[in-house]
Amino acid sequence: MHQSLKNVLPVALVTGSTSGIGAAIARRLSKNGYALVIHSHNSVETGLALAAELGNAIYIQADLSNDKERIKLIHETVSWKGQLDVLINNAGINRIIPHDDLIPASPDIWHELHEVNVIAPFRLIAEAEVALRKSAQNGRAACIINISSHAGLRPKGASIPYATSKAALNHMTRLLALSLAPDIRVNAIAPGLVDTPLTKNWTSAHELWNKRSPMRKAAKPNDIAHLVAMLVTSDYLAGEILIADGGLNLT
Ligand code: NAD
Repeated sequence: MHQSLKNVLPVALVTGSTSGIGAAIARRLSKNGYALVIHSHNSVETGLALAAELGNAIYIQADLSNDKERIKLIHETVSWKGQLDVLINNAGINRIIPHDDLIPASPDIWHELHEVNVIAPFRLIAEAEVALRKSAQNGRAACIINISSHAGLRPKGASIPYATSKAALNHMTRLLALSLAPDIRVNAIAPGLVDTPLTKNWTSAHELWNKRSPMRKAAKPNDIAHLVAMLVTSDYLAGEILIADGGLNLT
C-alpha cells in the first residue's frame, strides 16, 4: 500500500465507477485500504450512495468528453486530501457497428469515441502528473492503470472505431510508461468479455466465450478488479498490457 507523507490513507481515483467494472474496482481498492474518489458522467445518486457505503470516499460528477470537466475532476480529487496515489482510467464508451459496414462509422462516432477513450485518459494523466509525482516522494511509484480492451490488440470488438480507440490507449500506455517512470508506473488491462449490464444481451459474444475460450466463461467485474489490485500492489511492472480474456486469444 502507498503511504503518504502525512501517514493518511492513499487516495485512488476510479473513473466511471458507479457501474460495471469501475464499481468493482472501487470496492476492491476501498477494501484494500484506499480512500476512494468515485466518478461518473450521469448517475449522481448511485455515486453518492456508493461513496457513503464505502466510507472515506467522495463522489465527483464530470463529463470526460469536456476538457474543463476533466481538469475539474483532477483538481477536486487532489483538493480532497491533498494527494493522489492511484489513477484508474476505466470510463469508456463503445458503439456497435459491424466491421464490414463502413458508412455508419461516421466521423462523429470516431470523434466521440476518441474523446472519451483516448484523449480523456491522456488529459487526466497530464493534469494528475504533479500530484502523482509527489506521491512517489514517499518511496513508492504512483500507479496508473488504463482499462483498454482485447479489441485493441486483435481484429475484434464492437466496432472499428471502438477497437482502434483501445489500440491507441494501449500504445499510449507504453509511451507514458516510458515518459513517466520511475515516479509513475503506467499499465493497462485489456479485458475480453466482461459480464456487466452493458454486455448482458451480447448473446453471440457470451456463446463464443462459453464455448471457445479456454476458461469457458466471460470475466466477472471482480476478476478485473482483482487484476487491478495485483497491478497496484506491484512495485515493478511498467508498460504492460495485461490481456484478461480467459485465454480466448490462444484459440
Ligand atoms: P459501463 O457502461 O458499466 O461503465 C462505463 C463508465 O464510463 C460509466 O460509469 C460511465 O459513467 C462512464 N462514462 C462513459 N462516458 C463518459 C463520459 N463522457 N464522461 C464521464 N464518464 C463516462 O461499462 P463497463 O463494461 O464497466 O466498462 C468499463 C471499461 O471497460 C470501459 O472502458 C470499457 O471499454 C472496458 N471494457 C469493457 C468490456 C466488457 O465486456 N464490459 C470489455 C473490454 C473493455
